[in-house]
Amino acid sequence: MLEFNLEDIAGTSEVESEWDVAIVGGGPAGLTAALYSGRSMRKTIIFEKLAVGGQISVTDEVDNYPGIERIKGPELARLMEKHAKRFGAKIVFAEVLKIRKEEGGKFTLETTEGAFKAKAVIWATGAEPRKLGVPGEKEFTGRGVSYCAVCDGPFFKGKPVAVIGGGDSAFTEALYLAGIAGKVYLIHRREQFRAQRIYVEQLKSKPNVEFLLNKVVVEFVGDKMLKGLRLVDTKTGEESFLEVSAAFVYIGLRPVNEVIQDLVDLDERGFALVGEDTKTKTPGLFVAGDGRVKFLRQVVTAVADGAVAAMMADEYIREVESEGQP
Ligand code: NAP
Repeated sequence: MLEFNLEDIAGTSEVESEWDVAIVGGGPAGLTAALYSGRSMRKTIIFEKLAVGGQISVTDEVDNYPGIERIKGPELARLMEKHAKRFGAKIVFAEVLKIRKEEGGKFTLETTEGAFKAKAVIWATGAEPRKLGVPGEKEFTGRGVSYCAVCDGPFFKGKPVAVIGGGDSAFTEALYLAGIAGKVYLIHRREQFRAQRIYVEQLKSKPNVEFLLNKVVVEFVGDKMLKGLRLVDTKTGEESFLEVSAAFVYIGLRPVNEVIQDLVDLDERGFALVGEDTKTKTPGLFVAGDGRVKFLRQVVTAVADGAVAAMMADEYIREVESEGQP
């Protein structure tokens, strides 16, 4: 078994400015990249702007990570963080504002905690919840409108709430809310769901869940707090008002790739156009996780990306160093 001297790999308690591999984003992709990078004896730093774990840190339960039948999202995040740290990764809470590739080949990352240099960069910021963009949404965010059932659901114990969307997120979070709220309305703009069938069946079996299909939310209404939703039927055009104390919006994800937009090719929705090897058009920069084009966005595919990206970064550093740079 390999012996790791964590201090050697991670540096001391002072955050050094020169690293082998800089990972941006502390979700499953980033944490796995750090684990693999550390095991390759690369000095590895992770930048995370909010909370380690990414989307799983705001997910109630993960039930499809092989080998772990059921686990709370934040607990899985904690285990992944611990595992990455065991192999020496250093986590810094900072937002990366700019990335440049210097003449010599190294990358400079300008962050809210200062500038750092790295030989390779793994961009693993994933994606964030999309907004509906209708009147009242912004105004009532934090006052009834939410994008995180785990964070805000418990405030609405016994109350009527709505979940908007027809994908896995809407269904898994509606299942969670069904255990807390008095009533859960699942509002979806059509009759077919993207969500996996197992979640659809589970939600249908809940007595306090009602499906409102072919409906879109056109306005969030309230005074100090959200009072209800103005809905329009997509088939008949009929308007209605639904009284709810909270609305949880789960209408898909938006990639967080603005910082790297000049260094990578993006598709029309902003996802990085990189393949399974996670390589971008900028040598030494890799994109892993939900922020790249891919068929399936799940924890298992994110961690797979992270592992690949770390091995690619290791290979890249070996190659440039054998050529005498940087
Ligand atoms: P998603 O799969 O993209 O689904 C988004 C849903 O929102 C769709 O049903 C879509 O309707 C609806 N929608 C989009 N724009 C809308 C609008 N403007 N107004 C009303 N409805 C709108 O997104 P997600 O559910 O957040 O999932 C994201 C990824 O994470 C997926 O790959 C998913 O599989 C994965 N995930 C997996 C799990 C799990 O396996 N346990 C849990 C959560 C998420 P249409 O169907 O009509 O387009």
